[in-house]
Amino acid sequence: MKRILIAEDDLISRRLLQKTLEEWGYEVTQVKDGQEAWAFLQKEDIRLVIADWIMPGINGITLCRSIRESKMPGYVYFILLTGKDTKEDMIKGLEAGADDYVTKPFDRNELQVKVRAGERIIELERELTQKHDELNKLNLVLEELIRIDPLMNIGNRRSFYECIDKVHNRAYRYAYNYGIIMCDIDDFKAYNDIYGHLPGDNILKTVADSIKTTMRMSDDIFRFGGEEIVVILPEQDIETTLLAAERIRKAIESLNIEHKGSKSGKLTVSCGVSACFTTECKGDNKKWEIVLDHADQALYKAKEEGKNKVSSYKQH
Ligand code: GH3
Ligand code: MG
Ligand code: MG
Ligand code: MG
Repeated sequence: MKRILIAEDDLISRRLLQKTLEEWGYEVTQVKDGQEAWAFLQKEDIRLVIADWIMPGINGITLCRSIRESKMPGYVYFILLTGKDTKEDMIKGLEAGADDYVTKPFDRNELQVKVRAGERIIELERELTQKHDELNKLNLVLEELIRIDPLMNIGNRRSFYECIDKVHNRAYRYAYNYGIIMCDIDDFKAYNDIYGHLPGDNILKTVADSIKTTMRMSDDIFRFGGEEIVVILPEQDIETTLLAAERIRKAIESLNIEHKGSKSGKLTVSCGVSACFTTECKGDNKKWEIVLDHADQALYKAKEEGKNKVSSYKQH
């Protein structure tokens, strides 16, 4: 049932209002001053208030101001009830934030029209709030979607950029090292040529899943491009990053996926590894692009050395 709160110190007027509103199907709560009304509004979700202007303690105007200044979860439609009917009084009431006013003794029809107008506003506000909440939820989903690669179900290049930027800045601020592993599936073009593009897609997913399981921190694994996956390892140095890369290489090799187009007859990956700070280069001001390029050069070396290999970048 629609709820309404009446605050009115005059008993007769209060009862009459209550009776009228109940006839119209409202669930009415009636209180005798602004103080009680304020206390009631704090604990109950009531959106429609009819309050007398002049009441002992907190009067209607003060009550209205308090409602407007407070952070109530939903809009409260406020109708001021008053014996005053000069233009100045009306303006004063509206200035305090009242939505409408009704002069006493109230006219039934006028009151009904004004209460209904209030209801419409409240309903509109409810709908708006609901739409707003739905949009917020959708936005969260979208935010997620624009960062995820749908095939591998890991971060995409956009989220890689965001992550590496953060990790790199933190590395320089707090002297935390970090490592990068660039993984690339060996002879993947040949895999597509032999087994088809769709089985190729499945391989991409399987490889990504396997790397996720191996690394146990899927937040820092990204699809860099076609069949390349990049892993960021915060707080790791070149040695521990090398160990992690070797775990990845082994994990893929031990999936034992047939690949007739590769030398070993199996599907394998090669990894290039670099770290932000190395023994040769401690703390000189490099950009993350350089650290990434070093991992890329190391990957190139791993491919040159015969694939299914892990190689790290060494300063020349
Ligand atoms: P290498 O061992 O030197 O890495 O050789 P490669 O054949 O793996 O490398 P290359 O860069 O020549 O080919 C990469 C292939 O990856 C070519 C492309 O068709 C395939 N590829 C890229 N993205 C996708 C994808 O989303 N799905 C499938 N099925 N294949 C993809
Ligand atoms: Mg009064
Ligand atoms: Mg490649
Ligand atoms: Mg490749």
